[in-house]
Amino acid sequence: MSKPPVNLVRGVAFPTSSSRAVVTPLQPSVVYASPSPDALDDQYEGRAKGYTYAREGHPNADVLAQKIDQLEGVSGGIITSSGMSAITAGLLGLLSAGDHVIAGDQLYGRSLRMLKLDLPRFGITTSFVDPTDAAALAAAVTPQTKVMLLEVVSNPTLRVADMQAAQDICAKHNLILMVDNTFTTPKAYCPCDHGADVVIHSVTKLLAGHSDATLGYIAAVDPDHMRRIYDTSVTMGFTPSPFDCWLAERGLYSFDLRYDRCQSTASDMAEALARHPKVSRVLYPTRSDHPDHNRAVTLLGGQGSHIVSFELDASGVANPRDLSNAFVQAADAIAFAPTLGDIGTTLSHPASSSHRALSVQERAELGMTETFFRMSVGIEAPDVLIAQVIAAIDAATNP
Ligand SMILES: *Cc1c(COP(=O)(O)O)cnc(C)c1O
Repeated sequence: MSKPPVNLVRGVAFPTSSSRAVVTPLQPSVVYASPSPDALDDQYEGRAKGYTYAREGHPNADVLAQKIDQLEGVSGGIITSSGMSAITAGLLGLLSAGDHVIAGDQLYGRSLRMLKLDLPRFGITTSFVDPTDAAALAAAVTPQTKVMLLEVVSNPTLRVADMQAAQDICAKHNLILMVDNTFTTPKAYCPCDHGADVVIHSVTKLLAGHSDATLGYIAAVDPDHMRRIYDTSVTMGFTPSPFDCWLAERGLYSFDLRYDRCQSTASDMAEALARHPKVSRVLYPTRSDHPDHNRAVTLLGGQGSHIVSFELDASGVANPRDLSNAFVQAADAIAFAPTLGDIGTTLSHPASSSHRALSVQERAELGMTETFFRMSVGIEAPDVLIAQVIAAIDAATNP
């Protein structure tokens, strides 16, 4: 066969069908051809809807964003290339040099790093405050404060922020309340139903749920805020990959089912761990011994979520790290991996991963000892999973 002429490289149209595809099509095109300069004017000036260049928006991102909008009860949210780029777009889109931020003192590690080390280089300063302490939140407000950035449930100690106080303080001082809702998810709490101005997700975690796509989401209630966030995201190039959006949308179909299953197993896991004589502490928000139990019940509707944190009893153990190593090795069917929200159970050890930059003393103040673990519970058969964890604790503590 002879080679086709060059002008046919893109000359064959995609076949049409009188029946429709059930699955969302994947559209990787970076660029879109317009019929005329007038038509392009119409698009750029908002008289006609359409795509031009994928960094500015593409269909797979829009479908995913609309689905997360529906879960959060907002409209006009956008998808970004990661949870961190969503947080960056929110802060850089709404803040200027000289502005001040109030942030939870146990935010995600990279959020803390950006606020502590990166934004000060651009003249934006932050006060870090315990968000369970309403008086401390109120006392941190200065005339320069513009934004309060919180997570509802902290990682890995699962403290529940005083969201009512945060909302009241932000309303009184006209601050933008920005909530990273990754950990809590819209199944347990929709921040914008409770006075938040901006909601953010690392879609990478529970919403996509399969640890195969890195993505973020951000939506603002005020259209002017949203326009600034969108422009920052497009200018900085926080574009999400269409394929990642497609994967995340597929993951999102089962979010509701996964969440219910993970939460119910996590609740049973917390009880089983609490009964074990070699477990010295269990943190799970709906347990009556949790420090924020009452707030967890009112704020999260009694939903304890999919994360359980616990401490192995290291009393009488010469080297607690040996105990941690033995437990992780004995629990070899469970991925020892620093993420959360995956369809499979993952185990993380803050002292050697997320919180390794802190000193032993700083970790101790947050309640994270050498034998403190966080488990993100997956959809495995609950009985099999719990039995494996208990057997691994038995093996590690009775060598
Ligand atoms: C993982 C995570 C992030 C960062 O998200 P990436 O998608 O990894 O960039 C931000 N906030 C929280 C609470 C997270 O768990």
